[in-house]
Amino acid sequence: IHNQETPINIDDQDIDKALRPKTFESFNGQDKVVDNLSVFVKAAKLRKEALDHVLLYGPPGLGKTTLSNIIANELGVEMKISSGPVLEKPGDLAGLLTSLEPNEVLFIDEIHRLSPVVEEYLYSAMEDYRIDIMLDKGPSARSIQIELSPFTLIGATTRSGLLTAPLRARFGINLHLEYYDVDTITSIIERSANILQVPCETKAAHEIARRSRGTPRIANALLRRVRDFAQVKGNGSIDLDIANYSLEALNIDTFGLDRTDNKILTTMIDKFDGGPVGLSTIATAIGEDPGTLEEVFEPFLIQQGFIKRTPRGREVTTLAYQHLGKTPKSFPQE
Ligand code: ADP
Repeated sequence: IHNQETPINIDDQDIDKALRPKTFESFNGQDKVVDNLSVFVKAAKLRKEALDHVLLYGPPGLGKTTLSNIIANELGVEMKISSGPVLEKPGDLAGLLTSLEPNEVLFIDEIHRLSPVVEEYLYSAMEDYRIDIMLDKGPSARSIQIELSPFTLIGATTRSGLLTAPLRARFGINLHLEYYDVDTITSIIERSANILQVPCETKAAHEIARRSRGTPRIANALLRRVRDFAQVKGNGSIDLDIANYSLEALNIDTFGLDRTDNKILTTMIDKFDGGPVGLSTIATAIGEDPGTLEEVFEPFLIQQGFIKRTPRGREVTTLAYQHLGKTPKSFPQE
């Protein structure tokens, strides 16, 4: 029996939806990206034109899908959603493109995973709002041209390095999402707690934020787990004690590092004496793709001061040794 009514009795997917900001105003952080986008959106609306194609890149969970929804919402148009791996044949893409109404948004997640044929098909659609469709096969094969409504393609990718140059060149607006600082994540957590109607001390929100790897998706997930602890082990509200207790019980790293982050640091220290060591050597040692290491994991570790880049390769910092409870190699032995 609950001593407190569960405020919102909805499943995880609905919570996700409820926590997603719907306007530029309610989207915290990424100030430069948001400022620029809102100007471009306003201008497109004034001219009653389709917004230029937008490429959003950055690590997972930083708000690419959320921002795309906001763009469509602020443009006052519908958004259709697909993803690179799902669009296997040109026909799949053609179906989507021809279903778009004027100035609507087509969101393609993981756009770096489009097959080359589908990608090439996208070029004329993006450039001239036009596609060629093949009718019949063999000797009677012919292609007809179909005019599309003007539309906005929003492509999202975690790996901008995998995008081909011709595709990249067709995006007029190119935006990079960065990891969030702790204060911004703190306000995101407070906003989410508010929506979930669970009281949450700022100090507690700050502690959860510190361990969220600069990522709103992780912050919201942790908040929900801490809320469970607060309801079952506490009085329903989140204070610093219950936050610490929950994060401990969940085995969340004190700096928010995930397993791969820790594996990278441990490997650099144990196998390569802390560096300097080349990125691809590290990648091979931990069985990860070098590109993913460089674009998804390393930026966070550098931003947090665990790794530094040197002309001879990557090196771990004293902070990394401290965090893992190891002794730095150059530590003066007394
Ligand atoms: P991506 O598409 O980059 O992987 P999402 O857009 O799916 O990331 O965001 C993950 C979750 O984090 C969303 O459910 C959303 O609620 C939340 N979120 C992302 N960015 C923000 C933000 N700036 N402010 C508040 N919540 C955010």
